[in-house]
Amino acid sequence: MIDDLLQKKPIPDDVILAADAHWMRLALAQAQQAAALGEVPVGAVAVLNGEIIGTGFNRKETDLDPMAHAEMIALRASATAVQNWRLIGVTLYCTLEPCPMCAGAMIQARLPRLVYGARDTRFGADGSVVDVLRAPEFNHRVAITSGVLEEEAAVLLQQFFQELREKRGKT
Ligand SMILES: [Zn+2]
Repeated sequence: MIDDLLQKKPIPDDVILAADAHWMRLALAQAQQAAALGEVPVGAVAVLNGEIIGTGFNRKETDLDPMAHAEMIALRASATAVQNWRLIGVTLYCTLEPCPMCAGAMIQARLPRLVYGARDTRFGADGSVVDVLRAPEFNHRVAITSGVLEEEAAVLLQQFFQELREKRGKT
C-alpha cells in the first residue's frame, strides 16, 4: 500500500471501498448519538487528508432548528476547521441521501465528494425526490458514491421509527 503510494500507482478500488466503509462506520456512530437523543438517526463525518475535520448528527428536535441536519452541522464545523467556506479536498460521509437544503449547502461549499448510505424516498436530493446534486446548470459538481453501508443506515432508521410507533401505541 505505502509502496503503491510512493510509486504513485492508482489505489485499488477495494482499498478505496474499505476506506469509505471505515468513515461511514463513524458517520453511523454519529447517527446513533442522534438516536440516543430521540432524534431521527442521521449522522455525518467530514474527512480531509485522512483526518476527521467535522462531525454532525441530526439535532432538529433538540435545537428546535429546522436546519440542524447532520450534514449542515458537519459542513459548518469543517469550514471552521479549515477557516474557509470552500471545502477543498473534503469528502463528506452521510448515512442518508441528503435533502435539498443539505445538497444545496454542499454545492455552496464546493464540496468535491459525497459518500452516502441509504436512499431517502421522502426528501432525497440525489434523484430520489429531486436531483439537486446532479443538476448540470450548477457550476459545481459533487462526485457521489452511494450505497456504502446502506443496510446499516437503513436498519438504524427502521429501528428508530419502529420504537417510535411502539411508544406512541402505548400512550
Ligand atoms: Zn438535510
